[in-house]
Amino acid sequence: MDTTETITREELNLAPTIAEELIEQARAEAERQAADYAPGEKEALIERIKKLLREQNAVLVAHYYTSDDLQQLADETGGHVADSLEMARFGSEHPATTLVVAGVRFMGETAKILNPEKRVLMPDPEATCSLDLDCPPDMFSRFCDAHPDHTVVVYANTCAEVKARADWVVTSGIALPIVRHLAADNKKILWAPDKYLGSYVRSRTGCEMLLWPGSCVVHEKFKADGILRLKQQYPDAAILVHPESPEDVIALADEVGSTTALINAARRMENRRFIVATEPGIFYKMKEAAPDKIFLEAPNAGVGATCESCARCPWMAMNGLRNLARTLETGDNEILVEETIRREAVRSIRRMLDFARKQTISTGQGNA
Ligand code: SF4
Repeated sequence: MDTTETITREELNLAPTIAEELIEQARAEAERQAADYAPGEKEALIERIKKLLREQNAVLVAHYYTSDDLQQLADETGGHVADSLEMARFGSEHPATTLVVAGVRFMGETAKILNPEKRVLMPDPEATCSLDLDCPPDMFSRFCDAHPDHTVVVYANTCAEVKARADWVVTSGIALPIVRHLAADNKKILWAPDKYLGSYVRSRTGCEMLLWPGSCVVHEKFKADGILRLKQQYPDAAILVHPESPEDVIALADEVGSTTALINAARRMENRRFIVATEPGIFYKMKEAAPDKIFLEAPNAGVGATCESCARCPWMAMNGLRNLARTLETGDNEILVEETIRREAVRSIRRMLDFARKQTISTGQGNA
């Protein structure tokens, strides 16, 4: 088999796409969470959550793609807004005994894998990720067995069982240096699950890589022609792209990088205007980092440049103030990871963290 290819979904018997029904269910829940508040309801929810966090020695860690309300609440209560690995690392170092993870399920699992002694809660553990859904552990494990001469490198957006099967876990912020390190050792890589990020890493490192055919339903919909039209309208704008996006979109970028890298680019670059191809939840922290700059959502799926929310991740949007308060009140939605799986998964995550420490490289965005 040619080991620089992307395996097709048909070869793996993977469904052609993520079931639209799953995305619709997530959107319906997200709408319930975002439904208009009765007068005073939002303020009361925020006060209740703050009180419950204090009473339960709990800290809120939120991903960059969650709503402004949740990011603001995390900041105001001494929590943290970050990528998945930084969320987990923050949780490890924080003295709280309960971590409340606002994000998608694999982030709660990663927090639990790294912090087994802590209670990990999520507003909605059904909030998943298309990359995680695209990589069922049994199928993935069989595929690894069929390629025993490959080093298995998986993206953070995977379930605990897939991480347990991997040699390395990587985030988008550290994928390039780790793959370069493996390539220098003449390793062949089996990469999963994001084919676009895998293809980007392969093109930058020249490493021999076999790519699993998963994709992010949000990032794969960004459209190069729409971005070009927007760029014609605003020729002064710099284009920032997350590497889960298609190759022709990445090719237009002035900066390609993890969420953390894109926020830093917005702060650092001299442009006043940016076209941003990633989940728009990131605008909250981008505006904070560069308050005098203008951020435009990159068009996707053929929708016009003025689309406000078409790149919203349906699963990230399932996190809200209402289910956050309920989780803290009931203690429901605790994330547990079976101990034998956890011990295997922590190995491949720790390998990445140790590598980052030695190289003094930020792991950047684990989304995501
Ligand atoms: S935006 Fe992030 S969490 Fe949502 S589907 Fe894409 S990779 Fe998964």
